[in-house]
Amino acid sequence: MNPHILVVEDEPALQFLIATHLRRQGYAVTTTGDVQAAQQALQSALPSLILLDWMLPGVSGFEFLRRLRMDERTRAVPVIMLTARAEERDKVAGLDAGADDYLAKPFSPRELVARIAAVLRRSERSREAEVLEAGGLRLDRASHRVTAGERPVHLGPSEFRMLEYLMANAERVHSRARLLDALWGHDAAIDERTVDVHIRRLRAALEPSGHDRLIQTVRGSGYRFSTEVAA
Ligand code: CA
Repeated sequence: MNPHILVVEDEPALQFLIATHLRRQGYAVTTTGDVQAAQQALQSALPSLILLDWMLPGVSGFEFLRRLRMDERTRAVPVIMLTARAEERDKVAGLDAGADDYLAKPFSPRELVARIAAVLRRSERSREAEVLEAGGLRLDRASHRVTAGERPVHLGPSEFRMLEYLMANAERVHSRARLLDALWGHDAAIDERTVDVHIRRLRAALEPSGHDRLIQTVRGSGYRFSTEVAA
């Protein structure tokens, strides 16, 4: 699958230029003009990389970067900040907030493409190590594959994210509100029953191999992934 780049840039001409060059390189591209639209795009799918303009109408790119890094789900998505500010202290602030690289405007398409390729290579290397394994269940974040023993488990995108989150935060109890927040974001127009629906689907997918027992209901509190037998 081609890497998917989410572009958050409010200048239409620049947004168009970036998208054109990236598509020509074979990337799948989603363009958004502000943080709200970018958040909506993130709810449906996590991109391979985010190109994020610093100065945006409303919430700034810098603030959005901080939010991305605080959220378990988006924490590892590589971000390249785009900026008109070439000042060194801004660069330092951006990198401190968790940007993977920094590109000052104006930049050449070639430079943009080279930086993206470098960051993607780096993130792929670190992602390769990101295999979650517990209780005979194996979740590969890079390939989005889940196996129970030797057997592949087929999950929908939401169930995959749910399992990924639960496995990455195993042995902890997560309230429905916390799961909603972590997986669908704050402004998601869905309620807590949605969490139950996806938990039910996840368990059904894990049932044939008996791994549904790892997804435990903690009465009155929420859910937990645990390899310990529930009391
Ligand atoms: Ca801008």
